[in-house]
Amino acid sequence: MVGHRGQGFKDLYARIQPQLQQLLYTKQLVYISTSSAWGVMEGAIRNLVSKKVLNCMCGAFSDKWLDVSRRCGKEAEALQVPWGSPIRAEDVDRKLATGGFDALTLIHNETSTGVMSPLAEIAALKTKYPDVMFIVDSVSSMSAVPIKFDELGIDVLLAGTQKAFALPPGAAVFACSPAALAKSAAAADRGYYFDFVEFQKNAEQSMTPSTPSIGHVYALASKLDDIYTEGLDARFARHARTNQMTLDWAARHGFTLFAEPGFGSITLACVNNGAKPGGRTVDVAKLQKLVKDQGYLIDGGYGKIKGTTFRISNMGDETPESMQSLHDALDVAMKSL
Ligand SMILES: *Cc1c(COP(=O)(O)O)cnc(C)c1O
Repeated sequence: MVGHRGQGFKDLYARIQPQLQQLLYTKQLVYISTSSAWGVMEGAIRNLVSKKVLNCMCGAFSDKWLDVSRRCGKEAEALQVPWGSPIRAEDVDRKLATGGFDALTLIHNETSTGVMSPLAEIAALKTKYPDVMFIVDSVSSMSAVPIKFDELGIDVLLAGTQKAFALPPGAAVFACSPAALAKSAAAADRGYYFDFVEFQKNAEQSMTPSTPSIGHVYALASKLDDIYTEGLDARFARHARTNQMTLDWAARHGFTLFAEPGFGSITLACVNNGAKPGGRTVDVAKLQKLVKDQGYLIDGGYGKIKGTTFRISNMGDETPESMQSLHDALDVAMKSL
């Protein structure tokens, strides 16, 4: 272990800073918070909402942000679409046109429904509404698809490390635009632990505001080395390929996808369990068990779509080989259902 104010930690953070900046396609400093993602998600609300926040909601994680905003004492309004649908730029535009909002929250890849919303189209609205803070959660997409923070012009981009980074839970990385930092500096009740101005001041010295879980930072450094050994483009291509393998597996067994066509995630598949006429129906709990007995984990559906869907992840370290063995195990299980 090294002390978090000592040279050892500063050298560690300084070494990974350019790797993080390259990953987020940004010149801004990338901050490390050894909290789970919700720490930074709540922090973004506390730092950046003074008038009213628009919470774009299309699944379990994005829906929860409305409740979190209100628990932070903020005025908040929902832009709710049915689960399975993406957030669409024209709907965001219509809401922002009312002039009532100074921030919005968006989840790029809604992990509960396997839906990827069109981030570039939504971010393009920033030029029309420059005073609105665009806060984006990319927990289950960062490092699996390119997300160009500076080019998109968004204000906060964050991710926890336990999803697409395939690291242990307990850490998050995020970046803030200069406008977000300015807005944060003027926010009265932003607290200390997630004060974005403190993150910036400390990151300038390759430090964090409070004592981080240094073990997580070592893990992140190791993962970043892996990421650049593989190469970013190869990593993105691998995710696209392994996702397609799962989509092919589902189609082969007569399953449809929960996501609206054209908006499916590329880091996981949320598969309909007989939701469509003629679609296949299985006992999801049994399928999970049969797969688990062979050493693999799939998810039995999140929240209100538990059992009517199941999810197969291809994010992080999965390779065509590891996905193939999972699909083989699923094939075996399907035969005994
Ligand atoms: C898992 C997940 C979260 C929750 O993150 P915590 O690390 O539990 O705070 C938030 N957003 C998305 C999109 C997720 O998939």
